[in-house]
Amino acid sequence: MKRIAIVGGGITGLTTAYYLQKEIKEKGLPFEVKLYEASDRLGGMIHTERRDGFTIERGPDSLLARKPSVFRLIEDVGLQDKLVDVAAGKAYVLANEKLHGIPQGSFMGIPTQITPFALSSLFSPIGKLRAAGDLVKSKSKPQEDQSLGHFFRNRLGDEVVENLIEPLLGGVYSGDLDRLSLMATFPNFYNMEQEHGSLIKGLRKSRGKQPKNKKKPSVFKTLETGLGSLVDAVVDQLDEGTIEQGTSVDHIEKKENSYHLMLGTGEVAGADSIVLTTPHYACQRMLTQYDFMDPLRDMPATSVANVAMAFDQSAIEKDVDGTGFLVSRNSDYRITACTWTHKKWPHTTPDGKALLRAYVGKPNDQEVVNQSDEEIREIVLKDINKIMNITQPPEFTVITRWRNSRAQYTVGHKERIHNIKQSMSSELPGVFLAGASFEGLGVPDCIDQGEQAVEDVLEFLQD
Ligand code: FAD
Repeated sequence: MKRIAIVGGGITGLTTAYYLQKEIKEKGLPFEVKLYEASDRLGGMIHTERRDGFTIERGPDSLLARKPSVFRLIEDVGLQDKLVDVAAGKAYVLANEKLHGIPQGSFMGIPTQITPFALSSLFSPIGKLRAAGDLVKSKSKPQEDQSLGHFFRNRLGDEVVENLIEPLLGGVYSGDLDRLSLMATFPNFYNMEQEHGSLIKGLRKSRGKQPKNKKKPSVFKTLETGLGSLVDAVVDQLDEGTIEQGTSVDHIEKKENSYHLMLGTGEVAGADSIVLTTPHYACQRMLTQYDFMDPLRDMPATSVANVAMAFDQSAIEKDVDGTGFLVSRNSDYRITACTWTHKKWPHTTPDGKALLRAYVGKPNDQEVVNQSDEEIREIVLKDINKIMNITQPPEFTVITRWRNSRAQYTVGHKERIHNIKQSMSSELPGVFLAGASFEGLGVPDCIDQGEQAVEDVLEFLQD
């Protein structure tokens, strides 16, 4: 019997365990799977809390509809009838102390329709003219990699970057656009520029003609039972005894034809193949004896705090119609975004109530995450009140600190990960890396990596 060890019980590790056991059963393979999770909770960053009739997502809440793997997993575990679309509604950017609607037709902040962009109050006439320069500017010289900030500033100018692209992408990556890698995040934008000489033209071509007056498919979906129910459903499908909870893997030693995992419990477990799905720094700590892992120790990660506040609807005197707003970096605010969750996902909130979800922890304001609950609550309320006029205190507040949770794919990330994986395949055959620190941090990207790990492990063990 060959033993497969999965380290980490977030969505990447659970997906890996689930599809491995499915293959093992379907093909009658002589393999067994063990998953080690350090904490007493499964799901990692996916964490749904239910309270007083509210469904509160402490971590992710939105699944990008155009990425199929997560919907395949949802269907495989029988939750497809729990999928709901995001409610239609306007999203805003807060810039210069005012809310501005995100111009229609912009994709990740890049304009694809001229009129809404030209009419937008988010940019000055000079900013708009500069962005239109993308249509006539020649393409840049080919480059191995560059920062997202450098790339977008060159194509569209500083104003569009600061007022739209940075708030959108900064929200996803919780990082500094001027350090994040273009090739590790949006290589397709680089290819578009190189092929069409213009980002706007390239994007318009790739998206094709958008049908007019036709209901657009929703961009995001979620589960009405909370994303934690996906974790529960996957866990339910695993064979009994697969998961060792409250069991960290502290160190890994290579033996002649197998590996030893030193567990936090003091025990030693054996494995023929290992999938590491923990944050990058934890992977490096398990394998400190290998210098090729050092870049994972040096790879930065940022922290954020997610602040959910429940109100009686009557507490919100000045309401805004829409799903929420992002904050531009040059605004004098400490929150980076606020979702009007009761409007974006109405199923999360009882009638007559409101649920707001804000974030703090800009790249240059990391210390806020360490402030007390009371202080964070005051910071968030003060900022939100500049926009909304809330007249009563929240009925309750749920603050979740995600420390070092946002792996920063800085310039050169793709190459560094490629090199580590190459060294791993020669020095640690049968050990694989997957998860949010490596090749995409959205839930669907993590599931893709889990599926890839299943293929890699099976190929290795059946060789
Ligand atoms: P994790 O969830 O971090 O799981 C890793 C697991 O490894 C953890 O459970 C940890 O306890 C365990 N572990 C660590 N060290 C050890 C060890 N030594 N031994 C054993 N176990 C160990 N994505 C989206 O697609 N949409 C969103 O709306 C979205 N919003 C987000 C909002 C927030 C606040 C956060 C934090 C993330 C969000 N994401 C979103 C990103 C997405 O949730 C994560 O990237 C993804 O869930 C990560 O899954 P993972 O399994 O790779 O890692």
